[in-house]
Amino acid sequence: MRAAWVGQVLAKADFYCILKCSKVCSETQFLAGKTHKMSDTPSHRYNLVVIGGGLVGLAVSAGAAELGARVALIECHRLGGDSLHAGSAPTTALVRAARVAAELRHAESFGLRVPSGIVVDFPAVMDGVRSLHAQLAERYSGAKLAELGVELLRGEARFVDRTHVEVGGTILEFARAVIATGAQPTVPSIPGLEPSACLTATNLFTLAELPKRLAIIGAGTFGAEMAQVFARFGSKVALFDQHPQSLPHADPDVADLVRHTLEHDGVTFRLGYTELHAEKTETGCVLHARCGEHWFADPVDYVLLAAGRTPRTAGLNLEAADVRYDENGIWVTPILRTSSLHILAAGSVCAAYQLPYAAEALAKIVIANALFFAADRAADLLVPSCTFTDPEVAHVGVTQPEAAEMKLRTLTLPFDDLDRAVLDRSEHGLLKIHHDKRGKIFGATLVCAHASEMIGEIALAMQHDVRLSALAAHIHPYPTQAEIIGRAAEAYRRSLVTPFMFRFLKRFLKWRR
Ligand SMILES: Cc1cc2nc3c(=O)[nH]c(=O)nc-3n(C[C@H](O)[C@H](O)[C@H](O)COP(=O)(O)OP(=O)(O)OC[C@H]3O[C@@H](n4cnc5c(N)ncnc54)[C@H](O)[C@@H]3O)c2cc1C
Repeated sequence: MRAAWVGQVLAKADFYCILKCSKVCSETQFLAGKTHKMSDTPSHRYNLVVIGGGLVGLAVSAGAAELGARVALIECHRLGGDSLHAGSAPTTALVRAARVAAELRHAESFGLRVPSGIVVDFPAVMDGVRSLHAQLAERYSGAKLAELGVELLRGEARFVDRTHVEVGGTILEFARAVIATGAQPTVPSIPGLEPSACLTATNLFTLAELPKRLAIIGAGTFGAEMAQVFARFGSKVALFDQHPQSLPHADPDVADLVRHTLEHDGVTFRLGYTELHAEKTETGCVLHARCGEHWFADPVDYVLLAAGRTPRTAGLNLEAADVRYDENGIWVTPILRTSSLHILAAGSVCAAYQLPYAAEALAKIVIANALFFAADRAADLLVPSCTFTDPEVAHVGVTQPEAAEMKLRTLTLPFDDLDRAVLDRSEHGLLKIHHDKRGKIFGATLVCAHASEMIGEIALAMQHDVRLSALAAHIHPYPTQAEIIGRAAEAYRRSLVTPFMFRFLKRFLKWRR
């Protein structure tokens, strides 16, 4: 158990907030080398050396420095990592632009006339995304880290042994090191397809023109989000997956709901393919896919690879530090320790507990376990996940099959008789809550316009064991989408009324007349 004072210190050090709020200074300063230099420091021994300046690495190094640790952060490319440069930031900006396009197309249903359709100026859309990206990138500058006392070193880190790491010819000695080098797009082997000609999350946001015909390989979160985005911009999109359902990790009814919405936006699905190959053409290629008995041939201009991420371990010389890893990533225990005593790993580089959406929580665990004598478990984190399609999908806890295995009860409520959903013209959605007979919540899935904002309430209830009967007493403002949670809780409370209790109530009320 971690000592109470450590918990208090960590709670006070809302380091991520500090990182976000301190004075703005541009990343270019960092790139120009205006950072702490090794020669400025009396020795090269650190409490903590963090490798990788993505979301996890930044939060760990800033938080540890805030607590007084001597911290070096090694980054070989740009601060901010995938989330900022090739992940949630640019995708969220694109999703927002595509949603505006879709809303304008449906303006007439609100009684608004948009003259002669809408024109998507794709270069302008991308300029907007790039400018928002630049705005966010300013928050992740080397100068800000320097203000917090983090020594930033630019270059590829390479372990020398179990307590030393080398970067650009300088050897750093560490009491603890954290590997947070993230992951890169997986390149599936598809006969006839030249991987270097494909788009990935890494180069997608440099696109200058709207693809007329786009194939997306992988119908998971990123694939589904981008399929809807590009279809809404006007591309002809075909979405491929070996799995017979889109969003393979979602419950089948949830995946179906999303699929129907995407089809409504014009996306063509090629799911459950057993064979896939490409044939080169002058403008792009034709993708031949066998789904069941049928062969489909889709001519496309671009192919976007969205078939998962591969942990970045190359070049780290992990063998020298006795850090065990394989093609799935670095092997870590539930408390994020690697096979090497002084080295931890966190985030996308790990083979387990990658936990996207939880960088800050991971960072707190790493700091407590690396700098103090804690054994906080990443395995215990309750992490909601979100897919930013329209409608959004948000999930926390057990899935439907897991709930069935645990013999839990499931409450399912559609959105179509919720006033706010009707008024917003967004009735496609559902809420599922898996609970036991005492009203303890074990998991939930939301499909609706603001699912990602609403799932927090259920996650909080799960975290603090707030039962459904307590949620039923909680007032949700009318009319809101969040009212659906209150309705589910109310449905649970009504289910507690047995026929005997109901008969008794009836008699009692008759007597009171
Ligand atoms: C398209 C897409 C959409 C996503 N959407 C969301 C979302 O909506 N919400 C969400 O929470 N998550 C989202 N994610 C996941 C999120 O991006 C990751 O969970 C997060 O980036 C993981 O952070 P990380 O610090 O582990 O790795 P990264 O952010 O990848 O950072 C790793 C850093 O390490 C550096 N590095 C690598 N090797 C070395 C080396 N040898 N030496 C020095 N530095 C090195 C890299 O340059 C990089 O800066 C998305 C991911 C993608 C790809």
